[in-house]
Amino acid sequence: MSTGVRVALVALPFAAVFLVLRWIGGGEAERWRERVEPHFRDAVVGVDEDALIVVAEDVATAREAEARVRGFRDALEAGYKDLLGVPRFERMVVVVFPDVASLQAYAGAAARLDRGAAGNLHGYTDPLHGAVFVPRDAIDVLRHETVHWFMETARDVTVPSHSPWLSEGLAQLFETLDPDAVPPRPPGIGRLLLDGLDVDRLIRIEDYGEFLLDGPRNYEEALALCGFLFERRREGLQEYVKAERRTASSRPLLFEDIFGARGEPFRRELAEFVARRR
Ligand SMILES: [Zn+2]
Repeated sequence: MSTGVRVALVALPFAAVFLVLRWIGGGEAERWRERVEPHFRDAVVGVDEDALIVVAEDVATAREAEARVRGFRDALEAGYKDLLGVPRFERMVVVVFPDVASLQAYAGAAARLDRGAAGNLHGYTDPLHGAVFVPRDAIDVLRHETVHWFMETARDVTVPSHSPWLSEGLAQLFETLDPDAVPPRPPGIGRLLLDGLDVDRLIRIEDYGEFLLDGPRNYEEALALCGFLFERRREGLQEYVKAERRTASSRPLLFEDIFGARGEPFRRELAEFVARRR
């Protein structure tokens, strides 16, 4: 047998395996494009890399989303992994829809949401597949959903989603984080419209549909409570998030255990914190 034939016999199987692996790896981005295509006809794969896939209406839009999400994700990973958890996926999938209507149509179909629930969405995270969906021109939504992506994919798959107040509070708190600003902007809260915060009521809402019924109030109370815990009870907050990642039972009891929320000092300090930000 000639040397050339022998080399070919050895090299060919390796080449075949390499090509199949490349096809499988490269196929994931294409599969995402096909998945969203019924609601997003001109979708293209703009970024297809180990850590990130971006599907958008053109490559420039995808590259812009890539730049934003990479810096933000790195900042979360570097500074807040202990608090938010370690994501289950190394690769993040981002789909930038041309508008809110196409995003809502996709989310309604993919997550089988009813029209009322889908109509409330401005962004959406799919923790099972490690994907986030945002409308174009909404960079704060991309940050917000990246926080959800982090928390929801760090969660034990057998445990239900985080409590709505915790999820929405931390997503709003962290969407202000901007590692590219000079100086870098930390997570935080601005002015509040609230004239008080009923913490017992808020932490008992465990259903998203119920949370959304009084959306504006609940989102703002969630932000205020998470802002307070982040600034004044950081260690307890970390312990609490970690506990929710692993167990769904008696979350209000867990909250009471960790923060002593029924005690006078907690209530007084929280009320002062809210009043000072009005
Ligand atoms: Zn959210």
